[in-house]
Amino acid sequence: MIPAKFDYVRASSVDEALNLLREFGDDAKVLAGGHSLLPSMKLRLSTPAKVIDIGKLDELKYIKDEGDVIAIGAGSTHRDIATSSELSSKAPLLQEAAAAIGDVQVRNMGTIGGSLAHADPAADYPAALLAAEAEIVVKGSGGQRTISALDFFLGLYLTALQPDELILEVRVPVQPDGAGSAYLKFPHPASRFAVVGCAAMVHKSGGVCDLVRVAFTGVADHAFRDSNVESALNGKALDESTVSAAADLAAQGVDLMGDAFASEDYRQHLAKVYAKRAILEAAERASG
Ligand SMILES: Cc1cc2nc3c(=O)[nH]c(=O)nc-3n(C[C@H](O)[C@H](O)[C@H](O)COP(=O)(O)OP(=O)(O)OC[C@H]3O[C@@H](n4cnc5c(N)ncnc54)[C@H](O)[C@@H]3O)c2cc1C
Repeated sequence: MIPAKFDYVRASSVDEALNLLREFGDDAKVLAGGHSLLPSMKLRLSTPAKVIDIGKLDELKYIKDEGDVIAIGAGSTHRDIATSSELSSKAPLLQEAAAAIGDVQVRNMGTIGGSLAHADPAADYPAALLAAEAEIVVKGSGGQRTISALDFFLGLYLTALQPDELILEVRVPVQPDGAGSAYLKFPHPASRFAVVGCAAMVHKSGGVCDLVRVAFTGVADHAFRDSNVESALNGKALDESTVSAAADLAAQGVDLMGDAFASEDYRQHLAKVYAKRAILEAAERASG
C-alpha cells in the first residue's frame, strides 16, 4: 500500500511547525511517531499534501515534576511515559496505560500527542487522562489554550483540536495522597488496542469511598467517564458486592460500538467485568 503523493518538511522548532500549519491549513498534517498517520495515509484514509515532521523536536520531549502537576511534552513516547520515575510515584495511572500500549516497537515510536490527536476510540490514554482529570495544552493561530480531557474527546477520531493547532503538553495532576488507581484492558489479540479498557481512581476515608473516577475506552466512539458507576460507589465501602453492583451499571445509556470482533452486547459485558476488576484493584492499592 502506497500513500498518495505528498511533500515532506522537517520542522526545526514548534514555531516553525505552527507557521507551516497556518500556511497550509487543511492540506497539512503533522507527523510525530507515524504509527497512526502513516497507516492512515497508506490506506488513503488521510491524504495530506504536506507532511510536517515534528518527531525530532526536543522541545516537545520532556516529563517535568511541577509539584501538583506532572507536565508531559507532546513528543514524549509511550516508552518515555511507561518508564518515567516522576510518573511511577506521582501519576501511576497514566504510566500503567502507557505500558499497556501495543508492543515495544509501538511504544518506542508512538507519542502521547499523536495518540491524543488521533483519538482512536480504542486508544489507552484517553480513559486514564479522564480518570486523572488531566488537561491538554494546545497552540494555534488563535494562541494557546488549555482543554480539560473531559472536553477534548468529542467523537470517533474527533477532538476539540483545530486543524492549525498543535498539542504541546499534557498536564496530569498528581494522584491524591492515599488514593489508588488501576488501568486494565481486554486487549485485541492482534493490535493490543483496547477492546474495552477501564481506568479507575478511588480514595477511601473512614472505610468509605470519598473520591471515585471511572472512565472507559473502547466501548463507545470516544472515551467517557461513567457517572452511573461513580454515583453507586460514592460514600460506600468498596467491598466486592458493592463494587460488583456498581460495575453492573457500566456503559448504561451509552451508544455502544460493535464490530466483527466484539458485538455491542459483548462490549457491554466486558465493560462490567473490567469496571469491577479495575475498581477492586484501585481500592486494593488505596491506603485509606
Ligand atoms: C501495531 C500497532 C499497535 C498499536 N496498539 C495500540 C494500543 O494498544 N493502544 C493505543 O492506545 N494505541 C496503539 N497504537 C497506536 C499508537 O499508540 C500510535 O503511536 C498513536 O496512536 C499515534 O502516535 P504517533 O506519535 O505515532 O502519531 P502520528 O501517527 O505521527 O500522528 C497521528 C495523528 O496525530 C497528529 N499529531 C501527532 N502529533 C501531534 C501533535 N503534537 N499535535 C497535534 N496533532 C498531532 C498527526 O497529524 C496525525 O493526525 C498502535 C499502533 C500500531 C501501529
